[in-house]
Amino acid sequence: MKLVFIGKPGSGKGTQAKILSKKLKISHISTGDLFRQSTGEFSKLVHSYIDGGNFVPDDLTIKMLRERILKEDCKNGFIFDGFPRTLPQAEMLEKEIKIDYIIDVHISDEEAIKRMSGRRICKKCGELYNLNTNHIPKKKNMCDKCGGILFKREDQTSEAIKKRIEIHYKEVKPILKKFNPIIINGEQSIDKVTEDILKILE
Ligand SMILES: [Zn+2]
Repeated sequence: MKLVFIGKPGSGKGTQAKILSKKLKISHISTGDLFRQSTGEFSKLVHSYIDGGNFVPDDLTIKMLRERILKEDCKNGFIFDGFPRTLPQAEMLEKEIKIDYIIDVHISDEEAIKRMSGRRICKKCGELYNLNTNHIPKKKNMCDKCGGILFKREDQTSEAIKKRIEIHYKEVKPILKKFNPIIINGEQSIDKVTEDILKILE
């Protein structure tokens, strides 16, 4: 089972990829983790881009993915989360790997803004909360786990969020056009979204 999950920031595609990879016993591969956990010859290269605030080039990303999916934990399949991000990446992927389903966990712009602007993070322990979904701290602005103060990251102001959504459209629209993914309603409960995706895969 080889899957690709696409979705706006805040769509919950990462959460779904995590849940489904466990249920289906396949590997969850996010490019963010892939870059962070890279070792050896790739690590230096990757960090030279990331540390300079740049995107990792497509050919390097593909090279790393190609190696990653040969590992034992991918023998039943995998979910790509956050890849392909651009049309050239999608074209490279198409040439190299046969994907079974491309799934778009869809939410409206309003919902994306609402979810992302509700995100809070604990200054002390890094626990994540969301005032607009189901992970609300018990006491206002205080971490349930350690009592630390919660704050809103700078990239989660409404201006920054709108910009991220704009970038998402610019990059992902050509991919959607090319692949015609299966659209899942991401504005439902987490369980219902999982259920809907499983139905497609049956
Ligand atoms: Zn905390």
